[in-house]
Amino acid sequence: MAPAPSPTPTDTHCPYCSLQCGMRLRPVVPAAPGEPAVAVEERPDFPVNQGALCGKGDNAAAVLSAHARLTAPLIRDRRTGRLRGATWPEALDRAARGLAATAERHGRDAVGVFGGGGLTNEKAYLLGKFARVVLRTPNIDYNGRFCMSSAAAAQRRAFGLDRGLPFPLEDVARTGCLVLVGANPADTMPPAVRHLRALREAGGRLIVVDPRRTRTAELADLHLRPRPGTDLALALGLLHLVIADGRVDETFVADRTSGYERARTVAMAHWPERVERITGVSVEHMRQAVALFCDAPTGMVLTARGGEQHSKGVDTVGAWINLCLATGRAGRPRSGYGCLTGQGNGQGGREHGQKADQLPGYRAIDDPAARAHVAAVWGVDPDDLPGPGRSAYELLDTAGTPGGVRALLLMGSNPVVSAPHAGHVTERLRALDHLVVCDVVLSETAELADVVLPSAQWAEEDGTMTNLEGRVILRRAALAPPPGVRTDLAVLHALAARLGTDKGFPEDAEEVFDELGRASAGGQADYSGITYPRIAAADGVFWPCPATDDPPDHPGTPRLFLDRFATPDGRARFADAGHRPAAEEPDADYPLRLTTGRVLAQYQSGAQTRRTAALHRAAPGPFVELHPRLAARLGVTDGDQLTVTSRRGRATAPARVTTAIRPDTVFMPFHWPGAGRANTLTNPALDPVSRMPEFKVCAVRVEKAAAGKRS
Ligand code: SF4
Repeated sequence: MAPAPSPTPTDTHCPYCSLQCGMRLRPVVPAAPGEPAVAVEERPDFPVNQGALCGKGDNAAAVLSAHARLTAPLIRDRRTGRLRGATWPEALDRAARGLAATAERHGRDAVGVFGGGGLTNEKAYLLGKFARVVLRTPNIDYNGRFCMSSAAAAQRRAFGLDRGLPFPLEDVARTGCLVLVGANPADTMPPAVRHLRALREAGGRLIVVDPRRTRTAELADLHLRPRPGTDLALALGLLHLVIADGRVDETFVADRTSGYERARTVAMAHWPERVERITGVSVEHMRQAVALFCDAPTGMVLTARGGEQHSKGVDTVGAWINLCLATGRAGRPRSGYGCLTGQGNGQGGREHGQKADQLPGYRAIDDPAARAHVAAVWGVDPDDLPGPGRSAYELLDTAGTPGGVRALLLMGSNPVVSAPHAGHVTERLRALDHLVVCDVVLSETAELADVVLPSAQWAEEDGTMTNLEGRVILRRAALAPPPGVRTDLAVLHALAARLGTDKGFPEDAEEVFDELGRASAGGQADYSGITYPRIAAADGVFWPCPATDDPPDHPGTPRLFLDRFATPDGRARFADAGHRPAAEEPDADYPLRLTTGRVLAQYQSGAQTRRTAALHRAAPGPFVELHPRLAARLGVTDGDQLTVTSRRGRATAPARVTTAIRPDTVFMPFHWPGAGRANTLTNPALDPVSRMPEFKVCAVRVEKAAAGKRS
């Protein structure tokens, strides 16, 4: 059951990105029947955003409107083939029967689960438990695999532990030089920019690495514009200069790291002129970057999707971490490497068991001790827990094929828009024997389902999220969901019962969180000392926060690695990979690079923001950003309809001519379905370690749709 709404203002957090901005929801009289009974207000006391919200957060109440969303289950009518309204018992019976029948016919591994980085910790945890205990399938993964997995893998390799930022975001304002790699917070998380401005006002320097001149790049002291897919070479070139100029912090390297000699050898093979040829970044600019970074007393490197969503994303992030390690900018106050995670709970979502290779507490699923611990909390035999399953794209790529999953329970994700090679993924989803989708709206993926279950959302239910800093925060229910809508926890409870598991799937979020804490105890992401009252009494609690036998409570861990890294020997490990090209380089047929990303007014697959009138007006559809020189060559002017073609398909959208993009590259935002769907084009080539697809670069050709002229 959803909790009762609060009659007073409710302090909570934005439903969207990983900043998880604090906001207050004030009860209001709805403007019309079905309209939300709350209004968004500032909450200046939350330190991450200090009251500021972007347009998405400011308009978040609109997505609560009953008009924009599902308020009754739907099932596919076997006679007409269309979705039709159904009662909850009918829909849940059909959902459970389909999952059970597939397991019986094709085996347990033929049933899959696909989660989302926007789900609360409680949902992510219970979804993972549902997959392993009820369905007993290894095949569960989530869309966060598309988002932060390369940075996570690189951090685990280097530091022995992955937490988006190993320090509070406020520390950014106090560093000497900040390098932002493939990050555009001015568009993706605007309230974070106040920390960048504070950095500049305090005399700190800002370097932005991005092929596009973004709003963030315009704030920088120095903007480096590498070709998409060459960030690894750039990082190696910078390390080369650091070494050649004698600016390595030898004491830090000797005392706190391992693997430097091999990293040094690799970096010395990436001399500046070679790196200039690969990246397009001049030697002069590289020298300026090294001087800014090394002259400052402290420094940070933060990466985001631009540096991570590559078939070599783990090695790329590793090379940026090397730069921090070689200069002693890690494991020290006001210095370090971090990842600006993307989705609202991209961090917590990967800590508690909805990832194919992990159990709660950031435990590895193939670790016998981890299995024994979690199995004891769940009351099952460790041998009954499945092993690692397929990663997100591999799970979707093989869906509906012999040996792949034949039935899928999907919660809080819209891969028809957000997955790479999205046309192919759509076909695979259509080929499933049984698809169950839990969502707030009838997303493009829900439209393909056999059963659609309408979910309560952020302001209608309690739950915790873990923001980009590793800060566990609490969302409180401010109002009741519309009639006909249930929480995802209630859905898992009902499905588990129908599939023969009566216990262990509570509907109460706090009860789930307490169990999650026990399951995480002793793991890297230890939440066992965190409780709802503790979060509510502070501005969140940073993990790890183990339970203590004696008061006082463990204070949580805002800053990691100050004494030692989380590796067995306490030393950070240098990476040692050299440059390699993107999986798909331009050629005669596809002579340009496509890179994709987000715009200010839309969020991820746009399932909610596209339905918000103010956001739709601000960003109504896709576009193709191209440089004036390329536009002139194609005979294209602003607004002309363009066709962009890759080896996987074509997309059509109007031209936006701007010097903000490199002449050899075009950019498309990925929020929209239909003819302008950017992910029709993107390359699903996977990083060998993180299994992250290469969203950020593929080869395309561009034609003016009317004239059909080729680039
Ligand atoms: Fe919400 Fe992110 Fe905007 Fe903050 S920056 S208001 S969390 S979308």
